[in-house]
Amino acid sequence: MSKYILSIDQGTTSSRAILFTKDAKVVDTVQQTFPQHFPNNGWVEHDPNDILQTVLSTCKTVLANNQVTAEQVIAIGITNQRETTLVWNKKTGQPIYNAIVWQDRRTSEYCEQIRSNKLSKKISDKTGLLLDPYFSATKIRWILDNVADAQQQALAGELAFGTVDSYLLWHLTAGKVHRTDATNASRTLLFNIHQQCWDEELLTQFNIPHSMLPEVMDSAAEFGSTSSEIFGAPIKICAMAGDQQAALIGQACFKEGMAKSTYGTGCFLMLNTGDKALTSNNRLLTTVAYRLNGRVTYAIEGSIFMAGATMQWIVEGLKLLEHAGDSEAMVKDVPLDHGVFLVPSFTGLGAPYWDANARGAILGLTRDSGISTIVAAALQSVGYQTKDLQKAMEGDGLRPSILRVDGGMAKNNWAMQFLANILGASVERPALTETTSLGVAYLAGLQTGIYKSTEQLATMWQCDRRFEPTMSIDERNDLYAKWQHCIAQVTLSNNATKDDC
Ligand code: ADP
Repeated sequence: MSKYILSIDQGTTSSRAILFTKDAKVVDTVQQTFPQHFPNNGWVEHDPNDILQTVLSTCKTVLANNQVTAEQVIAIGITNQRETTLVWNKKTGQPIYNAIVWQDRRTSEYCEQIRSNKLSKKISDKTGLLLDPYFSATKIRWILDNVADAQQQALAGELAFGTVDSYLLWHLTAGKVHRTDATNASRTLLFNIHQQCWDEELLTQFNIPHSMLPEVMDSAAEFGSTSSEIFGAPIKICAMAGDQQAALIGQACFKEGMAKSTYGTGCFLMLNTGDKALTSNNRLLTTVAYRLNGRVTYAIEGSIFMAGATMQWIVEGLKLLEHAGDSEAMVKDVPLDHGVFLVPSFTGLGAPYWDANARGAILGLTRDSGISTIVAAALQSVGYQTKDLQKAMEGDGLRPSILRVDGGMAKNNWAMQFLANILGASVERPALTETTSLGVAYLAGLQTGIYKSTEQLATMWQCDRRFEPTMSIDERNDLYAKWQHCIAQVTLSNNATKDDC
């Protein structure tokens, strides 16, 4: 009689509960947004209670709306905003501080203070990451340094640390289980991705007691069961994965060389590198893609800060459009070589430049540049930035054999066709774009025996549309050279400003 899998997608701005049938069809989705808190310049926090309550209420609502009882749910899968850091009291379950969100930059100075070539190398060798406020370790350090008695309580074994998956698991199991999965652990800056364990040397470096840390499991595993009071009967939690890794799984990128690119607020490109943890010489991250039956699959990841968010700026900031979706019709007759370039480095540039000080620019304007040219340049900026990542990967000897796209902006046919053109590669868009929640539904299905293997999951992936490159090599090279010139201007003017100071 059990028929469904329930995915929890705990994101940066909202929590969603998605009910899937056993054959991975979406039955229903319930979503709830929650407030963002910005207590200081560069600080971003969430109220942990908002995270928990929106998860509980969306899950209860999706079950009630579809008259599904807890007994009919085979398993729960949890996917989540990554790196966001929570510390709570093990006795009471009460967080001792708000969740410090991945975007939060409060530990920049601390990172600079401890930065040395030796430490940066050690971190990158062991964790595949960079010494940056983005990841959890320095956020834990900040909480232990800034909440009264926190370090003492931590040393006494009274505090627990978790990313959002762990925090939810703790509360869903009424404090019985303190676990995470290898993908989430791999984003903390404390996890040795080669040995698959918490790294004692890094724990000592950041002065974080081992007793705070969750047990690290495979991404599909018996994590625990929900306490019966929550949904009326216990439901097994059988999958956990960070959101970008879950999307890679939902896109069925199970073979080495397959890649997915998610175009939401930002863009995250992840390339499956199989059982090899490759080190990038081009400032891409090495991360755990998933761990199944104790076997680790690794990925190389590049992130861009502004993808859909550039369209949001066009809509809400410049008011050039009513909806981001209107852009496609507006630009359909704009030639690709219109000469205008929008570099959306509003908050700096991510991979592969990692220039926190670069700022945005529109270059190449002429008297005949109109709204549609600027909108086209905004859409194209996402293609050019993906090309930057492709180039960085090529510099590391990697080239995606397949690129699958998802996220809000992937709906835009014009932008996806331009992407295929500028990459000189095929781009595939799936029929089911809920790839993140689908990813953990797949994992939960693997754990409970509904699906037999990743090979079986790969056969379930369905293409909505495939975009093939139609642009000549000369035109591609010419456009990309102009884009790189614009990037140089943005980084140059930033360096000039620094020199002027
Ligand atoms: P997130 O999960 O990060 O909140 P979504 O995957 O829901 O983001 O994507 C929403 C983003 O995609 C918004 O920033 C929006 O501007 C952009 N977007 C949505 N539809 C389109 C479209 N048809 N064309 C271009 N951009 C779009």
